[in-house]
Amino acid sequence: MSDKGLPFAIIILVCIHFLISCGQNEDTDPSTPATPGRVAYQGALSYSLKNMMSVNDRSTFVKILDTGEQTRTVYDGRIEGRITLTMFSFTAHFDDNVTIIFLVNKEIDYNRSLELSQEYAMHIGRLPAVLRKGTHFVVVHAEKGTPRGGQIVIAPNLGSILIHVDTFKNAIDNGRIEELLIHETTHAAIDAKLNGTSGWLHSQRTDNSFISDYAYRNPTREDLAETMIAYLGQKFFQESLGSSNFNRIREVIPNRIAYLDGLNLDLYPLEN
Ligand SMILES: [Zn+2]
Repeated sequence: MSDKGLPFAIIILVCIHFLISCGQNEDTDPSTPATPGRVAYQGALSYSLKNMMSVNDRSTFVKILDTGEQTRTVYDGRIEGRITLTMFSFTAHFDDNVTIIFLVNKEIDYNRSLELSQEYAMHIGRLPAVLRKGTHFVVVHAEKGTPRGGQIVIAPNLGSILIHVDTFKNAIDNGRIEELLIHETTHAAIDAKLNGTSGWLHSQRTDNSFISDYAYRNPTREDLAETMIAYLGQKFFQESLGSSNFNRIREVIPNRIAYLDGLNLDLYPLEN
């Protein structure tokens, strides 16, 4: 490779990283504590902290409107690549004026597309404003595929997440849908702003531990998304988490918690 080509190659690699990062392995479902002081939970955190949030938590979702069709190049987990499609488009409205566009693959019929978008929007409506505001698109395909967040829609390169219906049905049935959505929307809404900043890196180093094995194995890609579940958990869901989980989170990532507290993120509608 020529000298000229190298910086370009690096830029491409960074772009690809943001585009396709952020899947969670659906086969991982351990929840036993790992070595204290290094990794608090095995696997991915949405399994260990499932049912942290539930249907009893308030959703800011108000309504969803048919906004025609859109032709976009989007990621499809079944081919692990891009595909250009004309998709159903529905705009979800939340009670704090946030809107999110759902793009649904027309392999799913119209009525089911609307119904699914409404169902996902109700779950997403439970997430704090900072995550909803940074998630501009939700791309929905049928069947199974690794959940992802980042830039699922190729242009405009705004935050977006990827849903495969059967995979998310599994997450809903297992009580980990909100926790999974926190993870993926953090990729979409926050990764690009905070990952690699001196404040975040300093808090990572000072904690010298990781909230999950998934974060530990992917510290630059997954730690922020994993941490966000735990951060919101210890702040708002102490009761559903129980004191053991609450204490473990506070012991393992105190500096990350202090760092995120200091950002004054818009966490509406979550409150104590
Ligand atoms: Zn991820």
